[in-house]
Amino acid sequence: MNNNISNNFSKEKPENSSMTTVNILGRLRIATEQVRTVQTNLNMLEYAEILDNVGKELDGILYNLVDILSDDTRSSEINITSNDGQISKWLEQTFSSKQQRTMTATGRFESIKAIIQASSFVNALQRQLRMHTKEQLGVMLNLPVDANQLNLWSFNMIEHSDPLTFTVLLTFHAHNIISHYRIDIETLKSFAHALTEGYTKFRAVYHNDYHGADVLQTVHCLLIKSNLLNVFTHTEITALLFAAAVHDFEHPGLNNNYLVKTKSDLALIYNDFSVLENHHSSAVFKLLRDKRFNIWSNMSIDEYRIFRSLVISLVLATDMANHASLIERMSTYFFFKETNTTTTSTDSKTLLQTLLHAADISNAAKPWPIYIQSTEKVVEEFFIQGDLEKIYYDDNKPTFDREKTDVVQLQIGFIAHIVCPTFDVLSKVLQMDSLDHNSKLSPITAIHTFPWQYDLQLNLETWRQVAKDNDNQRILLSQKPLKLNTEYLQTYVEKAKEYLKKRTQHESLLRCTPFM
Ligand SMILES: [Zn+2]
Repeated sequence: MNNNISNNFSKEKPENSSMTTVNILGRLRIATEQVRTVQTNLNMLEYAEILDNVGKELDGILYNLVDILSDDTRSSEINITSNDGQISKWLEQTFSSKQQRTMTATGRFESIKAIIQASSFVNALQRQLRMHTKEQLGVMLNLPVDANQLNLWSFNMIEHSDPLTFTVLLTFHAHNIISHYRIDIETLKSFAHALTEGYTKFRAVYHNDYHGADVLQTVHCLLIKSNLLNVFTHTEITALLFAAAVHDFEHPGLNNNYLVKTKSDLALIYNDFSVLENHHSSAVFKLLRDKRFNIWSNMSIDEYRIFRSLVISLVLATDMANHASLIERMSTYFFFKETNTTTTSTDSKTLLQTLLHAADISNAAKPWPIYIQSTEKVVEEFFIQGDLEKIYYDDNKPTFDREKTDVVQLQIGFIAHIVCPTFDVLSKVLQMDSLDHNSKLSPITAIHTFPWQYDLQLNLETWRQVAKDNDNQRILLSQKPLKLNTEYLQTYVEKAKEYLKKRTQHESLLRCTPFM
């Protein structure tokens, strides 16, 4: 609809300076015309997209202006920084080549001055357009959370209601997905609501809309804080974010083993193979068949085929049974990467799968207060499954037994053997640019590091301290439903912090001691 904007402009350098002025004025006129016409007859998203395109075209004009400026002054090598005519004239006359200047000095001076003025005009117009776009979108979306909050590793999803709606809208907007695929905002909202309904359908304690939104936000966080945005195509980024949002759609709060063991309908449909993951993916694509929820209606047939295939492979890879093979593939990839610099689509897919898998199990890599809230929920969901196994299926040895399972050892094992290796492999890939708030907690993260490294160590060490004191009973407030005594556990968090601090001091001492 508005592709004509980019077609009207050319970034080619004009052949001579008399053409330059005409070109520049013509292109600026087209840009202002575009802004004028869109105000009346388009919806807000189309409007925002046009403003964005106009901004980009103004960038192009600015680029040409700078190019012309450097061409015009190549022989005189002068950089005029003053808009004052007298000073500029003095600069021009004193510090430029007199031979070049004799015949054309006045004309060239005028054009340089015009360029300087035009540059500041373009800058001001761009600033205005960008601010306007941002404000309008903020007002239009009317969300309880702002985009900056979602950029934080320490963002706590549990504190907000209707989490999937604002997370989908803000992350899709941040990655230019809404404007790129011309997604109607009402359709996107309806899709997010339908997604929430699916996630809350079975009232799972942990695998609900909060978990879906949390995984989406974590994937977004990993992307923006890393150098990976330049590695992936826009289709791949879109597929990753979409897969994260939908990856546990209609989760019943029971795991694959249970569904297979009880010969459930789902297990029979998918022949016991990644039963839940097959269902999440299949059910969400079925949802997209409904016009009211089809946010991808403007995607080309070819792109949709690639996108769908990628989403399916990403969601299927969230089956925890794939964990070991995924980490092994990722490690092998690094082994070969050292000698081969080319990136194939298989490499990208493995990396995308690792990112989603890492986000899926990232609770233990988040600051303690966030982690402990989710632990209580996920373990309670396991225990409910154990209760069902005992009552309805006469299973005396359920996988999770609220009377016998050692929550402390369960967490130690999960963090040490599953979460740590996953984040270790991810640390090799990502170059995180900065830490966020949780760095305040950390006495050992003064040097460049990843936000999860300290949190992972602290969470694991806290449980180890509890195990050392054999204090499992006092950390429980109630057994059914599982309630942890978070206040009491906090004393172990402090103990773990002290331990880590001493260990770091000891390690740095060893590094400084000669002949060790
Ligand atoms: Zn999940």
